Amino acid sequence: MNENHQVLFRKYRPQFFKDVIYQDLAVGSLQNAFKTKKIGHAYIFIGPRGVGKTTIARILAKRLNCENPDGVEPCNKCLSCMEITKGNSNDVMEIDAASNSGVDNIRDLRENVKFNAMGGRYRVYILDEVHMLSSAAFNALLKTLEEPPPHVVFILATTEYHKIPETILSRCQDFHFRKVPVAVLQQYVETLCVKENFKFDSEGLFWIAKKGDGSVRDTLSFMEQAVVFTDGNLTGAKLRKMIGYHGIDTFIELLEDILDPARSAKIFEKLETFFQEGMDLIKFTWDFLEFLNSLLLIKDNLADRESLNIPVEDLQKLKLQFRELDREVLILLAENLFLIHEKMNQMKLRSSYEVKVYLEIQFRKLILEREKPSVSGLLAKLSDLTKQIQSDIGNLSEAGDKETEVKKPVIPEAKRPTAQIPTNVNKPTATTSAALDEKPSPPRQETPKETVTSSTPDTETKPKSSADPNEMEKLLKEKFAGMEVDPGQFKNL
Ligand SMILES: [Zn+2]
Repeated sequence: MNENHQVLFRKYRPQFFKDVIYQDLAVGSLQNAFKTKKIGHAYIFIGPRGVGKTTIARILAKRLNCENPDGVEPCNKCLSCMEITKGNSNDVMEIDAASNSGVDNIRDLRENVKFNAMGGRYRVYILDEVHMLSSAAFNALLKTLEEPPPHVVFILATTEYHKIPETILSRCQDFHFRKVPVAVLQQYVETLCVKENFKFDSEGLFWIAKKGDGSVRDTLSFMEQAVVFTDGNLTGAKLRKMIGYHGIDTFIELLEDILDPARSAKIFEKLETFFQEGMDLIKFTWDFLEFLNSLLLIKDNLADRESLNIPVEDLQKLKLQFRELDREVLILLAENLFLIHEKMNQMKLRSSYEVKVYLEIQFRKLILEREKPSVSGLLAKLSDLTKQIQSDIGNLSEAGDKETEVKKPVIPEAKRPTAQIPTNVNKPTATTSAALDEKPSPPRQETPKETVTSSTPDTETKPKSSADPNEMEKLLKEKFAGMEVDPGQFKNL
């Protein structure tokens, strides 16, 4: 199997401009240079690793020296082309600037530049990682770039544009290379799978592409490992196992367990199973948190595939499945999980057992939090209440109160954290005590804050029929203490 290693990337290294994926901008410009016969003497290729800079530099070198070019493409058959492919052409020098960063190396290069091309027409110097050159070396290089011999072409490649001196940049034509999107990589990997007779499914391809993180080279080297790990069976299930990801079905189930009080026991059964299976529960927590965050993005139509750990096929499914789920609930959960995850990292728990116990406690707290009334739930209740009040007012209109219109509720202005941090277990679970009222205000009323009806002692006789806006406001303040609410939500009250 080891023979397969490295082979994929080499085997499928593009030899023609047309085979390079995604870098149309750079490739198009270079092809135009050949069409218009305006070949520059110095190019700088800028972009992340593994996206084709060196590959394109080699194709360019080939095309420059090709004996039988086919339009803008090299033939890949003539002696010059074949030598370049094999890496033993005397006219194409690949220099790793990272290990030849000194001024002496560049002086040698300047001496070398004077010689004419041996076989082909051009001497091509490919300087990889050129940002690693010392400043003296850059100066020496600059002299050559200022007066390049006509038969010389420099191709500088770098991942770090900002480290290249302006003087060098101004002498070069710059070409920007981009990270390859997951969808493009996924498609590319699929074509290779077909060629190589690997079994695969769409999710498997997604994970391979995702792990490549925009780099074709990294994608293919991960693919090679995956082929070994899965024995050429690149399915989502096997790849998830390989990278230690649990799959969205697990997360969907867990989220449903949390949301449904009748299912909370399942959370702990799951944790136990994961623990027994030797799963990394800290990573699991993070993955679940990412999942919740993705759900939020999906709900807001901000789901950009590049940043999500969710195959595109599942995006729509998730959107439908959790259509009804309140944003506040999701945010609360995600925020709590974030804190749990952070805490676990800080605590340096000694064993996976400790992690499990800690998580069990935290999940219990989460469930308690969950059982607190949600803002939306409160809104529904309030809406009912308001209707009731309005109808009562209608009935009592002879009282002559001009304020028949219920004043719009005022939201507590205090910006307080949206989530109750799970570490505060001592908090009463039913209604969060209204810290707003507890501030410096004099102890004029020892208001019980349990329920809507008992919260206003002055009017406890008939709270519903009281349309006093101050009472409404107080009531709302208590109910909403600790929650941020978009005032827009009250419009229909
Ligand atoms: Zn050729």
